Amino acid sequence: MNVLVINCGSSSLKYQVINSDTKEVLAKGLCERIGIDGRLVYQKAGLDKEITDLPMPTHTEAVKFVLDALTNEKTGALKSLEEIDAVGHRIVHGGEKFKSSVVITDDVIKAVEECNDLAPLHNPANIIGINACRELMPNVPMVGVFDTAFHANMPQKAYMYGVPYKYYENYKVRRYGFHGTSHSFVSKRAAELAGKPYDNLKTIVCHLGNGASVSAVLNGVSVDTSMGLSPLEGLIMGTRSGDIDPSAIEFIAKKEGMDLSKAVNMLNKESGMLGLTEISSDFRDISAAMEKGDEKAKVALDTYCYRVAKYVGAYVAAMNGVDVIAFTAGIGENDDFIRRNVMKYFGYLGITIDDSKNDNCHEERKISTDDSKVEVYVIPTNEELAIAEDTVALVG
Ligand code: ADP
Repeated sequence: MNVLVINCGSSSLKYQVINSDTKEVLAKGLCERIGIDGRLVYQKAGLDKEITDLPMPTHTEAVKFVLDALTNEKTGALKSLEEIDAVGHRIVHGGEKFKSSVVITDDVIKAVEECNDLAPLHNPANIIGINACRELMPNVPMVGVFDTAFHANMPQKAYMYGVPYKYYENYKVRRYGFHGTSHSFVSKRAAELAGKPYDNLKTIVCHLGNGASVSAVLNGVSVDTSMGLSPLEGLIMGTRSGDIDPSAIEFIAKKEGMDLSKAVNMLNKESGMLGLTEISSDFRDISAAMEKGDEKAKVALDTYCYRVAKYVGAYVAAMNGVDVIAFTAGIGENDDFIRRNVMKYFGYLGITIDDSKNDNCHEERKISTDDSKVEVYVIPTNEELAIAEDTVALVG
């Protein structure tokens, strides 16, 4: 089956067409600057990227240009739209309603809209993308795949905040977790690589990208994860603070004359590695600065690794042990310094990293030594393939 995978942001739309039988990506790209001016990036497998400026007042035009590019006579990956068998949409927040992927219907869209409050920047964009595709491909089945769904079976003790219970009852204020598609994909792959049954394995996945989260996957179920009501909780990220004492926010806001939404914006966009280093949110820039002796870059990297290690340690406790640890996403897949410096905290568990395997590793590989008590892997994530596979499972 050919599945069109769509991931809509507020002003962007990423897409891939995946043949689910061969796992081959037939074409991929993105639309940027939707609502501003508009640019289409399109790449058919084996050919160079094409970049075209095109007016995209809304996501509907963006989807239309993507479909035109996919069926273009010269460079299209498909002969006609008939060759798209299904569409898989990434949806950020499924609240408590969605515990797994679903076939999209009018009722599903209504239920997703009811979660908009919980992800005001993401869910409305996801719905716009879904509606645009439904308008242009009314007869093609569509599936919604939620970032929150994989964590939907966390035990209550893992998702409650220590605030008055009525806020959970009245407003569903609780921890949800994100990056679920990646945590699910990588934990399954980790079990395959370790040659152990997924339903009898303790795995910790460190998804370290611009956004970052750690999850504890016990016997195939996510039993805890570091992001919360929103993707702001947990690790220090590219521009997000992660965990912080709420009193510090009030303190800073008062000193700087900020209102609450400005303060939260600062925590989302000006904090994390960017805020700590005052250089960049990108780990390549930060590592280069540290190598030149920049003290703030060194402190930021130490603090980052320490925070990841604290979560990994917490999840060893949550599962009463760990069999496999996996690193994924931009930093997890590429940064050997970060992997080494997180893992150095776990000598007491008998974990040892083989530097000759870890150094310069950017691919799927076991990086622990053969006598390490816990197997440690680098596993590139593939959220698009996971979305395509869920889509086929529901409508194939
Ligand atoms: P997201 O999908 O959350 O936007 P990614 O998973 O693509 O993020 O991760 C992006 C980050 O990965 C970059 O900001 C950068 O910090 C890091 N990264 C990418 N390549 C490398 C590399 N070769 N070495 C170190 N860090 C890298």
